[in-house]
Amino acid sequence: MDWLQEDLESRIFRSDSLPDAWPEGPSGSRRGGSGLGSFFKPLCDHPPQCVLKSEEGGWSVWAGRVMDCDRSFGNFQLLLNLTGDSVVRKHTIPVPELSHWEQRAAVPEILLDWPDMGVVALPWQFWRDLVAHLSRAKAQMLVFCVGGHGRTGTAIACIMVACGWTSEDAIAWVRAHYCSQAIETRQQESYIRMIERKDSCHATDNTPQTTPRRRGNR
Ligand SMILES: [Zn+2]
Repeated sequence: MDWLQEDLESRIFRSDSLPDAWPEGPSGSRRGGSGLGSFFKPLCDHPPQCVLKSEEGGWSVWAGRVMDCDRSFGNFQLLLNLTGDSVVRKHTIPVPELSHWEQRAAVPEILLDWPDMGVVALPWQFWRDLVAHLSRAKAQMLVFCVGGHGRTGTAIACIMVACGWTSEDAIAWVRAHYCSQAIETRQQESYIRMIERKDSCHATDNTPQTTPRRRGNR
């Protein structure tokens, strides 16, 4: 894959300090956007930030917690939403006779069935295809979950692995440069290693810490 090699050769990821300024929404700061004010005290105050950036390729990945991002969604070309609930939900009507009532979100939202503390049932090809899309579209993508640690950290590491990093380097980099609490469970670490091995099956950790939800069971 020529584009991948070019990205790697141009040292795709800035690994020094905080990069670009966080895009604020039209009506105020990212903090307190949930309206919960001082009632809700987050356990970690790592800021949403640009975590991965292709200097040559023109694409980037931003990451954070949903409560810090909820005024900024419109600044991105793609959302990777790991919370389980759409943040740009419109009417979804998969019935042909009624489909003209359907409405689509202004920002494309990839909504994955990914349980908290667990892993997602997607193979390495998904992460490869996602990076290929970001590169082609020169997109700024925002990835987020509820706490911004487990699922978000795992997704960042998987994107790095898809770009050629080893799983161990990706895990260490995410914890050093994004948040030390990122990637929360052994199962999530195992999943990142599985992506590196390009295994086609689900994560193989024998001691899963959550019971995976079945698709279509909500
Ligand atoms: Zn944190």
